[in-house]
Amino acid sequence: MTTTTYRQLIDAFRESKLVESIGSIASWDQHTYMPPKGAGHRAEQMGFLAKLGHEKLTSPRLGEWLTALETSPIDDETEAVNVREIRRVYDRAVKMPSKLVEEIAKTVSQAQNYWAEARKKNDFPAFAPWLDKIVALKREEASAVGFKESPYDALLDEYEPGATAAEITRVFADLRADLVKLVAEIAASGKKPSVDILNREYPVERQHIFGQSAAAAIGFDFQAGRLDTTVHPFCSGIGPGDCRLTTRYHPREFNQGLFGILHEAGHGIYEQGLDHAHYGTPAGSFASLGIHESQSRLWENQVGRSMPFWEHFFPRLQQTYAGTLDDVTLESFVFAVNNVEKSLIRVEADEATYNMHIILRFELEQALMTGDLKPADVPGAWNDKFKQMLDLTPPSDAQGCLQDIHWSMGGIGYFPTYTLGNLYAAQFMEQARRDLGNLDEDFRRGQFGRLKGWLNEKIHSPGQRHRAGELCKRVTGAPLTHQALIGYLRKKYTPLYGLA
Ligand code: ZN
Repeated sequence: MTTTTYRQLIDAFRESKLVESIGSIASWDQHTYMPPKGAGHRAEQMGFLAKLGHEKLTSPRLGEWLTALETSPIDDETEAVNVREIRRVYDRAVKMPSKLVEEIAKTVSQAQNYWAEARKKNDFPAFAPWLDKIVALKREEASAVGFKESPYDALLDEYEPGATAAEITRVFADLRADLVKLVAEIAASGKKPSVDILNREYPVERQHIFGQSAAAAIGFDFQAGRLDTTVHPFCSGIGPGDCRLTTRYHPREFNQGLFGILHEAGHGIYEQGLDHAHYGTPAGSFASLGIHESQSRLWENQVGRSMPFWEHFFPRLQQTYAGTLDDVTLESFVFAVNNVEKSLIRVEADEATYNMHIILRFELEQALMTGDLKPADVPGAWNDKFKQMLDLTPPSDAQGCLQDIHWSMGGIGYFPTYTLGNLYAAQFMEQARRDLGNLDEDFRRGQFGRLKGWLNEKIHSPGQRHRAGELCKRVTGAPLTHQALIGYLRKKYTPLYGLA
């Protein structure tokens, strides 16, 4: 009886995931190859798939099967995990009134256009009523879904199951205190790399070839994936054997192309490393957005911006762009790709100051959700905090509170997962070095297989068997703290900036 019920539950849930993955391929196509005139028809297709997926997920039979399974003991560990996590997703889906789901979808699809327009014209007041509406809808969502401490937790839970604002606040506060010190020491060193070498001529076709070979070298399987060009880079795990990476290139901006590819390839290696035998179930799905981001940041930063990585790749880079980097030493190149400087735009920020941009957004989002901050007052609050944390005043809202698309998409609660990713990446990498010994020697020889194998075993293949915080404890023997990240940054910047 139980076995049949379990099979029925899994088959039904898997169908909702199949519908979702058809949506993913349609969305990938929309952002890469779809001709502009196809937009109307695509929107209709996407709307239909979203409705179909939601229907499959909220079918009352799913609830009956879950209850039946929960009332009898489950011996199999994987089955227990799948029942637990499907329950979480199912509850969230059915608690959301369909009118609210529809209202949010309609609002954010319009709000994104108003946001894009407002950013272009540096006109926050034109976006303010939309932000107002989105915050109101998100507060409604939080009370529909329910929460113990803070309404923000209900939103966070969608991206980072089990995490709470209170826990994140504690880790971020420690991180902030140490980052402020580190960044001040770097500024006081008076040393600056020659970043202009990264703005020389880097022909786009060669960036593509070099980026593709670097992604393959770190372990992204191109027999099970591909790399294409888009405006806003992303990685989409379509399903077993099919993972799509996208990136963007600028002929005079080296960092954007290569580090963008390494970042998305890190996401892709996670997707390719999931347990495909359990595709379409929680056991075969990624743990959380924070853990996903840890995998992209680990390859992009911990590996891709390290000296040993470039000891292998720099001579190849010089060859690829014959003549362009002949006068540049390995040391000055590595210094340039690790430049630390307070700046206005999050996506262009370095590894250290990046986290300040996130902490600022995390604080403002919570104030918006509690009602302490009115959406109309966001620009002033943003600029005050920015001055306080990064000692800069944005010259315009376009370069301030209007720079990110997330709020217009209703993605309140998403930002902290970026810094959680940096924190998890550092703590995982520290453990990988303890377990595997001299990884730098591997990197110098262009070998990344031992690290990838370790990640496959420890982080990727467990899927959602453990929630993010629990996974961290199991893999590293300790809960998440800021120490590994600060230790890693200090170790890297000390020789570059001649810190004490
Ligand atoms: Zn990412």
